[in-house]
Amino acid sequence: MLRLTPVLLFALLGLARPDADDLADVYVREVQKINEAHVAKQRAETEEELGAKLPKKATRALEKLLKEKDGADVFAALVRCGEAALDLDRAKDFDRIAERLGASAEHAAELGTALSRPRFLLRGVGGLDAAYLEHFAEVLDATLVGYDELFGFAEWSKVPGKKLRVRVHLEEKITRPPHFAPQYPFHSEIDFPVIDPQRLRSPTKDGKFLFYGLCHELGHVIAMWGDRRNQADHHTWAHYTGVLLVEHLTQSLENEAVMKHLRDVRWRSLAKEREKHEDVEPGTADGEAAMALWIRLHDAVGSQAIGAAINYMDAKGIGPRVNRVRYYGYDDLAEAFAKTLEDEDRRASVAALLR
Ligand SMILES: [Zn+2]
Repeated sequence: MLRLTPVLLFALLGLARPDADDLADVYVREVQKINEAHVAKQRAETEEELGAKLPKKATRALEKLLKEKDGADVFAALVRCGEAALDLDRAKDFDRIAERLGASAEHAAELGTALSRPRFLLRGVGGLDAAYLEHFAEVLDATLVGYDELFGFAEWSKVPGKKLRVRVHLEEKITRPPHFAPQYPFHSEIDFPVIDPQRLRSPTKDGKFLFYGLCHELGHVIAMWGDRRNQADHHTWAHYTGVLLVEHLTQSLENEAVMKHLRDVRWRSLAKEREKHEDVEPGTADGEAAMALWIRLHDAVGSQAIGAAINYMDAKGIGPRVNRVRYYGYDDLAEAFAKTLEDEDRRASVAALLR
């Protein structure tokens, strides 16, 4: 007599295997649960600690999916898992998925390449290969070290513990410059278009300052001023950090290979801005005044003190958060300086500038 085992039953009903999408759902959902819990707890667990929490049922679902026969549904499901793997910095999962997608050029291109480093995670799409990301990582690492040297920011991500993400995409033409994408709920991410598939060159032939753009966007990642409707700094804070970093890195890494094709300093530097704003009264009324204010603050106390004041505001949770992006006000900054500056003369000069 015929025994109806579950397998046979499924086969008879035409339900031989779980849907590829269902398997992806398990993996994607478990990744999301971990990130949601992390955001809710506000504890600075590292990506590694978070990644290790992924339960067996998620990894088992991925294993199954990886072994499924070739098919558009399977490939699309794998792309979803690959993206989720990046949300938790599961680089090994990502690499296995990318390798499996070698069977479908279209889906492999959609997922792209990724590179995980201690401080950030890069994703390359549009035809950027692993070598490109290696080079981009060198530039970003050098830039972050430059920020360390100048400001000493304690936490890059708006969600403590999470690595910074940069999505680098190859375009024929850059229609929108690099920008900080504030919409991601679980980490800070910069959207970064490039047009040269070989390596990052800046400025581009059509005059886009991509290196300055990277330095500038990192300024936004650290701090926004005012609130969603009112940019109290008239977009000058990131301009200040951007030109300062370009100038600093060009000097400190002179003759280093990493700087070879990065020549923005001819057009973008703090020295140039200082000259331009020499006769501008510092204040907050417009962009010119606001830029003069950052330059005067910089010259009065130095970037390390500005970094310490921002670290103070971040640690104390001062200022509004929009989608967890850190917003601050000038009053907050004045108070942070009062708390963090030890030297009385410096306290007085900052108070006079921010009054
Ligand atoms: Zn900007």
